[in-house]
Amino acid sequence: MGKSVFIILVFLCAKGLLAQDSLLTVTAEKGDGVLSLLRKQGVNPYDYYDAFLDLNTNNLRDSVHLYEGRQYLVPKIILDTVPVVDSLQKIAEEVKEIEGDVFEIFGKKHEMVLSKSERLIGNIYYLVSGHGGPDPGAMANYAGKSIAEDEYAYDITLRLAKELLSHGATVYIIIQDENDGIRDERILEIDRDEVAYPNKVIPLNQVARLKQRVEIVNDLYQKNRGKYQRLIVTHVDSRSKGENIDVFFYHHAKSRNGKKLAESIHKTFKEKYKKYQPNRTYSGTFLDRTSLYLVKKTHPAMTFIEIGNIKNKKDQRRILDPDNRQALAKWISEGVLLDFEGE
Ligand SMILES: [Zn+2]
Repeated sequence: MGKSVFIILVFLCAKGLLAQDSLLTVTAEKGDGVLSLLRKQGVNPYDYYDAFLDLNTNNLRDSVHLYEGRQYLVPKIILDTVPVVDSLQKIAEEVKEIEGDVFEIFGKKHEMVLSKSERLIGNIYYLVSGHGGPDPGAMANYAGKSIAEDEYAYDITLRLAKELLSHGATVYIIIQDENDGIRDERILEIDRDEVAYPNKVIPLNQVARLKQRVEIVNDLYQKNRGKYQRLIVTHVDSRSKGENIDVFFYHHAKSRNGKKLAESIHKTFKEKYKKYQPNRTYSGTFLDRTSLYLVKKTHPAMTFIEIGNIKNKKDQRRILDPDNRQALAKWISEGVLLDFEGE
């Protein structure tokens, strides 16, 4: 008896060592991001982005940024002696069979959603990105180009949808653009072909536009009655000018579950910001009349998030960087998990 246990232990240790040894480490150089670091190693950065973050969780700033000069583990795949392209494809196919699902709405590069957990199974999330269709939302100029709020809110919303799906949630993306997908550019091209779920033309008139999304969400809420349902609305503009606050989380004054959702996400952001930018977040119930319409009329418990302001130069730096959009989406998803699972 004693002997066989010993043998098994030795075997496990050897295997553990081998696994550690076989991971390549690279040093982050000045200006490196996760994507560029993976690319330099011949790894498809989009397929291995999540795997890289998981491997290096404790060595990242704000969950997604590298520290210059530090060593990072590279996901295992590139060590294969098979030509990189072949082995990437093979592994991508295997992964697809085993634990992934394809969602075309995320675009070719990002369509594969790998299953990370089943923590949100049975939960329903409605995600509404601000504006869309004929209404671009707030607009600004950056490097001689026009940028529009709705495109950035949509990109963050897609990234959030992908995170929630990876934890087993059912997600309704209420505003959709079938050919945008998740985009890794800084300047997101403006278009007007977004539709409302499942395929409705978005009206130009503001009241009609808000009414349309309220009705869509409330119809689905009715259909899914009895299930755990939450609504998250995302905007990239801000009503409170001149304040030193980046992100606002609003909720209905009378909704206890909405308040808990907003506060859970708020809490997650506060922790992430703690070291660098304290007091840059706010949660509460102040809203202008337009936004209040959506908060008041929709039936699921909800939070209304304003992620910076696209007109603000300082916020632009954060919002235009695709790694930052990914981080923002990931933090919201962590707040959603916190909300559901408690503390
Ligand atoms: Zn807006």
